[in-house]
Amino acid sequence: MKVVRKISELRGLIQLEKNLGKKIGFVPTMGYLHEGHASLLSHARTENDVVILSIFVNPTQFGPNEDFDSYPRDFERDEKIASKEGVDYIFYPSVLEMYGDNATVSVVVKDRNDVLCGKSRPGHFDGVVTVVSKLFNIVNPSKAYFGKKDAQQLAIIQGLVRDLNFDIEIIGVDIKRELDGLALSSRNVRLSIEERENAPMLYECLKETRKMFEESNDLDNAIRSTKAKLMENQLGSLDYLEILSYPELKKPDKKTTTFIVAIAFRYSTVRLIDNIIFKKESEKMEIKNV
Ligand code: AMP
Repeated sequence: MKVVRKISELRGLIQLEKNLGKKIGFVPTMGYLHEGHASLLSHARTENDVVILSIFVNPTQFGPNEDFDSYPRDFERDEKIASKEGVDYIFYPSVLEMYGDNATVSVVVKDRNDVLCGKSRPGHFDGVVTVVSKLFNIVNPSKAYFGKKDAQQLAIIQGLVRDLNFDIEIIGVDIKRELDGLALSSRNVRLSIEERENAPMLYECLKETRKMFEESNDLDNAIRSTKAKLMENQLGSLDYLEILSYPELKKPDKKTTTFIVAIAFRYSTVRLIDNIIFKKESEKMEIKNV
């Protein structure tokens, strides 16, 4: 496994691999790797000849009051995990290497970003698609792997690849969870003991909302009753709980067959997100309150 910090060096190495007819699989991350990232890497390992992992905490996707500085980082630990997962190259650039000191162009998201995290983190997805476009142009993989944990990000990247004609197959990978149901996240280490004990309730709320929606077809009521419960939680506050069509991220209608129920919840220093994507037969369904 080789660690590469320079764009030009990585391009050269990838060209050599491509000259040998090798298929490149790419996993972009912000590091502080866990089993969720490992699952992406293992999918990439199985389906490609060469696996490239990028580790880059991207400043342009953090708002001014967000946790860019306190985002957990541990490159030595990441290297060990990456090596165990059979990564061939870790791309580990500096901010200066990625952005230079005077960027004149960036990518802007036009749809799928007016809800969920896009609503509470203005500019976040513009930062994401800008850095992902740059990484795609540098690595030029056959396939790129993204977690369904960040389902809105995955939906927006599917739009990016379609709209800007990237010849890259986007693979969505299922969410990895702790035994108690908490979705793995690099930010989980910043939860207090009490918050960590409380946090599995996010997934419980999602399952309950989905069940209520499936049983009643009453979207507003399913959301309202889970929200009422969440309001009683003293350890944090609800950012959003929504049911939308997926991947369009619109209010569901009679034609909707794939849904997402998604939550964001703020603890003292950490904001956690989670979701369930599910299918429901549309023919027989009469959704109330849409
Ligand atoms: P991050 O380092 O948080 O930017 O995540 C890098 C990639 O790993 C993204 O595509 C995430 O969706 C994915 N990922 C993060 N957590 C999980 C998880 N618990 N299960 C599956 N994929 C995940």
